[in-house]
This record gives sequence, C-alpha cells and structure tokens, in this order.
Amino acid sequence: MVEKKEEKGKYDSLFLEKKSAWELMENQTKKAFELGEEYKDFLDNNKSEREIVNFVEKLVKKKGFVSIDKATKTNKKIYAINHNKAIALIDLGKSNLSKGINILGSHIDSLRLDLKLNPFYESEPFAMINLHYYGGIKKYHWLNVPLSMHGVVINKKGEKKEIVIGEDEKEPVFVISDLLPHLEGQDYSNKKATEIIPGEAMDALGASIPVNDKKTKEKIKANLLSILNKKYDIIEEDFVSADISLFPAVRARDVGIDGGMIGAPAHDDRSCSFLGVKAFLNSNSTKACAMLLVDKEEIGSVGNTAMSSMFFENLIDTVAKLNGEKVSAKEILQNSKAISADVTSGLDPKYADKMDPHNLNKLGYGISMEKGTGHGGKYSGSEAHAEYMAEMRTMLDKAKIPWQYGEIGKVDQGGGGTIAYLLAKYNMNIIDAGPPVLAMHSPFEIVSKIDLLSTLLAYTAFFESK
Ligand code: MN
Ligand code: MN
Repeated sequence: MVEKKEEKGKYDSLFLEKKSAWELMENQTKKAFELGEEYKDFLDNNKSEREIVNFVEKLVKKKGFVSIDKATKTNKKIYAINHNKAIALIDLGKSNLSKGINILGSHIDSLRLDLKLNPFYESEPFAMINLHYYGGIKKYHWLNVPLSMHGVVINKKGEKKEIVIGEDEKEPVFVISDLLPHLEGQDYSNKKATEIIPGEAMDALGASIPVNDKKTKEKIKANLLSILNKKYDIIEEDFVSADISLFPAVRARDVGIDGGMIGAPAHDDRSCSFLGVKAFLNSNSTKACAMLLVDKEEIGSVGNTAMSSMFFENLIDTVAKLNGEKVSAKEILQNSKAISADVTSGLDPKYADKMDPHNLNKLGYGISMEKGTGHGGKYSGSEAHAEYMAEMRTMLDKAKIPWQYGEIGKVDQGGGGTIAYLLAKYNMNIIDAGPPVLAMHSPFEIVSKIDLLSTLLAYTAFFESK
C-alpha cells in the first residue's frame, strides 16, 4: 500500500498556520481536564473579592509566605493584603528587586448586584431587596437567575459578620423576576434591549411570609429582618456599614457533550486570578516575581483597592528596604516587566459579524496575547511594543505553548480596557494575556479547558523568564 503524501504548496511556509490547541496539545488533554476540575472547585467556593483574598492567603501561608507586617529580612516569600479586597504576593526567589520583577496582575472583582444602603422594603406580597448593579452588564442577562448573597456586615457592637446565603443547595436563593411574555403585548416588540429592565427596577425577591403580629406594619419585611437578626445578630441600620452583593448562584459546569468547556459566572477574571496564583506558586524563577490580585477593575480601576492605588508601589518600597536594597519602588518597577492577566472575547459563530474574521480569538486555540486594548481609534488602550511582543512570542514558542492573537472585536464595534495602562505608567513593558471567553459579563460565561492549560503554562513561562 502506498501512502499518499500531502502535497505542500511552494508558498506554504510564508503563511501563518492556525491550529487548534486541542490538536497541538493532544497528549495533555488529561491534564487540561484535571485542571478544569480544580478550577471548577475554586469557582464554586470563591465568589467575592474578599473570599478570593481569604482563599489565596490560606493557600500561600501553607507554602511558607509571611504577611508583610510580620516579615523580616530573612523572609523571601511575602504577601500583603489591602483592605481585605486585594492581595499582592512577592517571591524574591534568587534575585534582588533591583534587577526587576516579573509581575502578573489580575482582578478579583466581578459583575454582581450590590445591596443598597437601605436594602429592604416591603411591597405586597413580598419583602424586596434593593440593588445597584456593579460593572458593565447587559441587565436582562441577570433576570430569573438564582442569586446568592455574599459579604460582610459590621453591627453596632463592631462585630464583623460574614454572610453567605444560597450556595448550599438546601439554602434559599434570591431572584429578580422578569415579566411573563403573556403581558408584554405591543410594548415588548418595541422595547430596546436596554429598556427591558431599568437599573432601578432590578430588585430581588427577599421574603414572602408575614410575621404573626398585629402591631407590626410591614410584616414581611419584619420576617426578613428577624431571620437575618437571628442568624447574624444584625438590624436594618447595620447595612450602612456593609459590603453585601448578590452573585449568580450558578455552579460551574462542563459545557458541550465532550466536556471541553466550562460554564460559570465570572471567568472574568477568576480564571486569570486562579491560574496566575497557581503558576506563581509552582514556577521556578531566578528573578523576583509578583502576583497581584486587585479590585474594582470592572468599574474603571478606581479606589484604594484598585490597581490605581499606591498600595503596590508602597509595598515594593517596604520590601526593598526589608531586603536591604537602596533603590526606590519607582526604579524597581521601571526595570520590571508585566502581564496584565485578563480575559478577552472569543468568536461566537452566531455573532461573527461583530468581529474581524482575520483578527479574532477562538476558544480552543490557546491563550490570547492581546497586543492592544482600547476602543475606537485605540483610545484609552494600552499597547505592547513590537520588541515586547517579540520577547513574548519567543518565550511561548520555546516552551511549545499554543497561543493566538487577535482583537476583541471589529474596529468601532466597542472595545474594552484592563489594568495594563496603570502598570505601564511605571514605564515597564506590559501585555494583556488570557483565555478567550464567550458571553463575558453574563451569569454564565464560557471558557475552553485547553485554553486554561495553555494560559497556566504561559504564565509559568513568564514567571520563569529572564
Ligand atoms: Mn477582566
Ligand atoms: Mn470585565
């Protein structure tokens, strides 16, 4: 039998060949699925930025990391927590900070519905929860989705009460109910998507059983407050000193009959946060490395727990002093390089017209290295230089990691930003890199397991790079 050889064209070597990461990493499929299981477990147990900070602190403590306020000159593995909502990990490895740090920055805030300061009101036949959405959501995505309550309340006695309701399947959830189609009539066909539900109407069902007390006016709200009081020793006024939100009470699930994808809330940016920490802890670097998990990216990186805060710069100053180095944080950071670890959009064939077919990212094709972000004429974006792109592509190719590059969408089709520009301020090189996602900012975003593995390997290669 004569084997038929595939004919190669004379010009083939000139062309860019795009291959599926599933094919390129065929022998690592099992690894991708194992990583998927670990990741799903993380997703189901860590939703708010506070919970992720707690999770990471516990994890790094086990690996010998010491909190900055207890660290001495001998400690090479240090972590610092900022207002319980952001955490920075630093590993001095075998090097000094003055040689520059390999920094990977991700965000741990995600799309959610915050409770207002006066969160409860009675509206027959319910007690309602008054909400204010956080971040860029398509509001109708969040209707009829089971929601769990996460956060902290500090009561009058000054006791901090941690609240989690609705993650255990035996516990109740909350929901913003939508209008039944029977009653939409003409209004429905004329409504724009942005008008399906106004922000102010996004209130959730809180309770429905009245208390049995003739003297109480708002009997259902009384029941809701009484349950919270019994459980957490809090009263209505205590919600003024609280950070409480509703998150999708949706468990991470495999998607597609082959289980190649994972659906869950907030892959943006829990995927990069999870993979970044994992890569940081498992990499064998000769340089100093830092892993940043910051807050408030989804609302423009403002506030003292966001990337724009002086927290990280101050921390580097402190660690440099501790390490006996006489250089400023600004000099160290100028000498550093970074990855802004964040997700990007993946091609959804149903909405292919929103993307440039020649410059897009696809699920299952590996980590996306995003040269630039921004919108319109590249406004407000951060762009990696050719030289840094060259460094990154060499690094990835050497490690045989499948990767891809594209743009978030068509020119003038919208766009997006990340924390990249805030680290770029220090004059360090930075590039955006993370897995592509479908249905980003919805309560059920979708990623590919092979892209998670590709991303983990890429972040590891970055931490280990010179
Ligand atoms: Mn993001
Ligand atoms: Mn986002």
